[in-house]
Amino acid sequence: MKDDILEVLVSEEEIQEKVAELGKEITEMYEGKFPLVVGILKGCLPFMGDLIQKIDTHIEFDMMDVSSYGEAFVSSGEVKIVKDLNTSVAGRDILIVEDIIDSGTTLHYLVNLFHHRGAKSVKIVTLLDKPEGRTADVTADLAGFIVPDKFVVGYGLDFIEKYRNLPFVGVLKPEVYQGE
Ligand code: 5GP
Ligand code: MG
Ligand code: MG
Repeated sequence: MKDDILEVLVSEEEIQEKVAELGKEITEMYEGKFPLVVGILKGCLPFMGDLIQKIDTHIEFDMMDVSSYGEAFVSSGEVKIVKDLNTSVAGRDILIVEDIIDSGTTLHYLVNLFHHRGAKSVKIVTLLDKPEGRTADVTADLAGFIVPDKFVVGYGLDFIEKYRNLPFVGVLKPEVYQGE
């Protein structure tokens, strides 16, 4: 599997160091507030799993699965909820955990949805941010690493469901795409 990687963009060590820093910042932001930490499946899973262990104050967490509609609908910002939360967001401080923000379509929809459902506050933490891809008005409150406008895999991020279990973030060799 690792032979398919052309270049490592963020190493395992860099990720773990950054996750500890983010956990500290989140602890300070939410001390005494009992936020609802919302992970967006499936990409958030490794990041979320590591991150929550670095948050040193009480939190509740839940997961949500969403998918964007086809190209034609991207500009309208329409997103389909595949699995909704089990927890009410009304009156809660929400922290959304994402693997990467590209166009921002998904998060733009979710931030509006949670406000509409009566959340007290909505913030975003993302491991990776690809600002060059942005078309929707979304800014992460906390972002681990800025990445170039390249397709990345690893640490939750997939290429046709593979590579999510890599402990680092990298770019695939071109022949891997050509084989598909
Ligand atoms: P957005 O709505 O911000 O365009 O899309 C964000 C979602 O698209 C991410 O949560 C992720 O699932 C997927 N995505 C965006 N960029 C990449 C990338 O470089 N690699 C992979 N594997 N997925 C990406
Ligand atoms: Mg995602
Ligand atoms: Mg994907």
